[in-house]
Formats: sequence, structure tokens, C-alpha cells
Amino acid sequence: MICGIDLGTTNSLLGVVEAGFPILLADESGSRLTPSAVSFPQDEAAPPLVGTPALRQRIIHPELTLTSIKRLMGQTTRVGPKHNLPEEISALILGHLKKMGEAAMGQPLTRAVITVPAYFNDSQRAATKRAGELAGFTIERILNEPTAAALAYGLDKLDERSKIAVYDLGGGTFDISILEMRAGVFEVLSTTGDTRLGGDDIDQALLDALILQTGTPPSPAARARLWEAAIAAKHALSSSDSHLLTLPFFDGTRSLEVSLTRTQLEAVARPIIEKTRTHCQRALADARLTPADIHQVILVGGSTRMPLVHQIVADIFGQPPNTSQHPDEAVAMGATIQAGILEGSLRQILLLDVTPLSLGLETFGGLMNVIIPRNTTIPCKAGEMFTNAVPNQPSMLVRVLQGEREMARDNWELGQFAIEFDPGPKGSARVGVQFEIDQNGLLRVLARNTLTQTDRVLEIASTAVDVTDERVESMVSESVAYAIEDMRERIFVEASHKANELLPALDMALAQAGSLIPPDDRERIEAAAAETRAALITGEAARLKAAVTALDHATEQLAAAIVEQAMEASLHRRGLL
Ligand code: ADP
Ligand code: MG
Repeated sequence: MICGIDLGTTNSLLGVVEAGFPILLADESGSRLTPSAVSFPQDEAAPPLVGTPALRQRIIHPELTLTSIKRLMGQTTRVGPKHNLPEEISALILGHLKKMGEAAMGQPLTRAVITVPAYFNDSQRAATKRAGELAGFTIERILNEPTAAALAYGLDKLDERSKIAVYDLGGGTFDISILEMRAGVFEVLSTTGDTRLGGDDIDQALLDALILQTGTPPSPAARARLWEAAIAAKHALSSSDSHLLTLPFFDGTRSLEVSLTRTQLEAVARPIIEKTRTHCQRALADARLTPADIHQVILVGGSTRMPLVHQIVADIFGQPPNTSQHPDEAVAMGATIQAGILEGSLRQILLLDVTPLSLGLETFGGLMNVIIPRNTTIPCKAGEMFTNAVPNQPSMLVRVLQGEREMARDNWELGQFAIEFDPGPKGSARVGVQFEIDQNGLLRVLARNTLTQTDRVLEIASTAVDVTDERVESMVSESVAYAIEDMRERIFVEASHKANELLPALDMALAQAGSLIPPDDRERIEAAAAETRAALITGEAARLKAAVTALDHATEQLAAAIVEQAMEASLHRRGLL
């Protein structure tokens, strides 16, 4: 199982694909968002606090608490009371997410996809990867945040060349990226933003306004409470028009009660959100596009929950933004979808209209011969021509297989039938086998004898029904686990097939034309043939492949001599020589 992780400046999230659906996992308090904060307890022996407990600790011990560590990723500065590298602090956040995910899933999570801003350079990406590894993950992919968001919004289904604007306003950063869909992947056309612009600025501005309203400057503790209350009011005002902010015994004896309206908040927030406008215009200009070229604007980041952001974005791009996803979960959702695609478990939602596993036939030597590869969009048709391997072969058994392994025996058999050949020399029969999968996932295998125009049809309905996600997942992961062994076996089978054709033909050719080539040439051929026979016995794939190639090469002169001899004989017969 691979998990998807959004390692954010303000908040981090982790998801997995379960039963074909991407889900984000929650901690024991039910929260899917973990604040990206780490605090070191004064007691040196105690483990560091991560998430909400760390944020709470910040009020009392700001000097022992680290937030927004993402800004420092890739730098060699040391931070906090233990003089850690930024990636070591990020590793603590990732380790916390890992533990939370493992508790929720009841199984170890060891592989992950992690997102980074599109503008992250190599050292920032490498530091993110190292953070993941320090936390005990194998990093399967580092994914751009806007790309992840586009996946979460389901925009991978858009037409070729579609352009998307990803507007991401988080806690402390603003990113705007323009993507283009090209050959099924998103390409970043431009990306820009402000690394010091986000919801934190709105919180600060609202706090200042509230302090102004209360008259006297509050004590540090009261200020911290007011700050928390301001954030809560800001969140509430994204869905309601007014909010009553109450702080009993604020500043010792005084209680505070302030009624805030959305209009009041917007007056404070507007100048901050307006700052994103020039960045958007810049991103469009960098991509050499105008707002009219943009097919969709998607919203990412918690601050885009504010209705005022919707309004300003609509004004900048001349179209209402797509608000169909939770903006602060979209990046994590996309990372999880990418994880699901990598592990092959997302069949039900994303890959519903494609073949979950490869379909093929068993060929010589027990090999899997893929006719329709995994993840082909249905309906689809593909086929291959077969012929008789020996003279007068009456028939051939066709086994229809599904799976990703190189050897037929490791795949699942869906059915089998015989193809009848007409009597004749080797290679004279012609039977086309066609696989056809209809819209419902029903597989029809058609075998047509092209000489006699007779058909045989095998219908298999089980390709979509029998195959559960777990079975697909284990088939795909087995194919990865056994990739090297499987490939070795395939190489050996293919090379031995060739050797078994070459060696008897060589004996005949040497008997017939061996005297026509120089003796050392003959020696070379015999040595190559001996090496091929030896490799066949020892079963070493690489050795056999090399031996067969060498044998092929060594016999070039002999083959030429035979052709020449045949030519001369023919000319003689016709009295031309
Ligand atoms: P980041 O990408 O920076 O890690 P997020 O995408 O989680 O952060 O965004 C966090 C920001 O979103 C915070 O400033 C938070 O106050 C803000 N936010 C979250 N929910 C809301 C809401 N309902 N209304 C307004 N702002 C919100
Ligand atoms: Mg973010």
C-alpha cells in the first residue's frame, strides 16, 4: 500500500486508497489536518510534540516550537533547541503522519508519494525525499502540488492541450500555476507566487483590528486567546454572514464580546487577497496566455474557502472557479490518487474504463504473450497471427490468460480452446486470434483460419467480474517483485527456442556446406555451438542469450556459402554456368 502525503507549510495530511477509493486518514480526535508544527519539551528526555499539541506548546514556549519549516527545506541551516536540519524536523511531522495512518489502517505504511510546490528546486526536492526516508518511507514519487490538485479535481480527463490555472492560497504562501494537459500528463507552463502571503496575514490583520476595537493592549496570554478566536471567527465567516466572538474573563476580569460580520472581515482581508492579482497576471503572461485561454480555474488551500477569494478569482480570470473539492484537502487527495495509480489499486474510480490487467495467450515455452496491455481503454480490439510450428500440425491449444507475469503459469487462465490447422509444411497455416473487449468489459476471443475463413469464438465474461482490487493489486505487486526473475526466465525461454531451431539447422548446414568455409571459421562455429549447448544445460539466461547471438554471428559466412552454393547449382541446372 502506498500513501499520499501533502507536507504543507501550515498543515499536513495523509491518505491511502482503500477498496478503490482515495481517503484521507484522521487522527484519534477525528482531524484529517495535522498542523505542521514541532515542539521540543523542556524535559530533554521527552519525545518532541507534533501537530496540535505542538501549537499549544508554542503559546508557552515559542523558542522551543518550530512552524513553517517547509520554507527552510533544502537549506543547511540548523534550527530549534537541538540544532536540527529542516528535513529532520519535517521527518518528525512525516513520522507522526505515518504512525497515525498505521493506527487507522492497522498495517505498516512504508511507501509514499509526497507533494512539493512546483517551484521547488532540486535541493528542496531532495531534502523532502530525505525527510520521507528519515521517517521510514520509501519515496515512490515527488509530485508537484498543482498537478496533485488537478488530479483531485479529476482534470486528468480533460482534452489534450486544455489549460488549467491552479490558485493555491494556504496559510503562509500563495502559489499560482498554469498547467497544460499533454499526452495524458500535466505540464507546468508557468508558476509564480509569494512565499509570504496567506491566511496568516488575514489573521494578523483581523487581530490588529480587534485589538484596536477593544481599546487597551492585551497581555501576551490574552493576545494568544484573541488570536485563536480571530482565526475561528474567520473560518466561521466563510459559511455564515455574522459571528459572535466571545471570550469570557478575557484579560483576567474583563469579558469580551464582539459581533463580527463577513463584510467587516472582507474589508480587512480584501487588500491582502488583492495582492494575488498581479501574480496571476504574471503567471498568465509567462505562459503567453490570456484569461480566455484558461479552461478551468481550480482552488487549492484553506484560505480559498473564503467567498471573497471566489469573487476576486472570478474577476481575475473572467470565469467562476471550480469549487467542487475541499481546497485544503485537494493536494493530499491528488497525492493519494497518484499513489493509487502507482500501486494499481484505483481501478474502480479512475480506471473503470480500462483493462485492470493485461490479457494475452500462452505461447511457446509457456510464455505470456500480451495481446491487450493493462490499462488499455475499453472498448478495444487487438490480435495476432499464429501458424503451425511443425509440419502437418493438426491443432494448437490456445490458453487465454490474464495477468502481469512473464510466465503463463503465473497468470490466471480465463479459458482455452483449440485452433485447427490444415495439413501442410511448417509455417503454412494462418490463424488470426483477435481479442475484443466491449463497453461492459466482456471479452470475446475470435480465432479465424484465414485460409478456410472458419471462425471459432470464445466468450469470457469474467475479466471485469472476478477480479477484485486485492487480486489486481497483488498481481501487479507480484509482477514487480518477480520482475527480474521473470525477465530472466523469458530471456532463457526465448533464447532456448532460438537455440533449438539453430542447432539442428546448423548440423545440416555443416554436413552440406562445411567444406566451403575456412577451417578456423568452422572451428569458431563449433565452439559457439558447444557453448550454446552448455548454456542450455546450465540454464543461465544471460549466458545462453550471448551464446545464441554469437552463434548467429559465427554462422553468417556459412549461411552466405550455402546461398552461393544453391545459386550455383541452380545456374548449372539451367545451363547458365
Ligand atoms: P498550507 O498549504 O499552507 O499548509 P492550508 O491549505 O491547510 O495550508 O491552509 C491553511 C490556511 O487556510 C490557514 O490560514 C487557515 O486559517 C485557512 N483556512 C482554513 N479553513 C478556512 C475557512 N473555512 N475560511 C477561511 N480560511 C480558512
Ligand atoms: Mg498547501
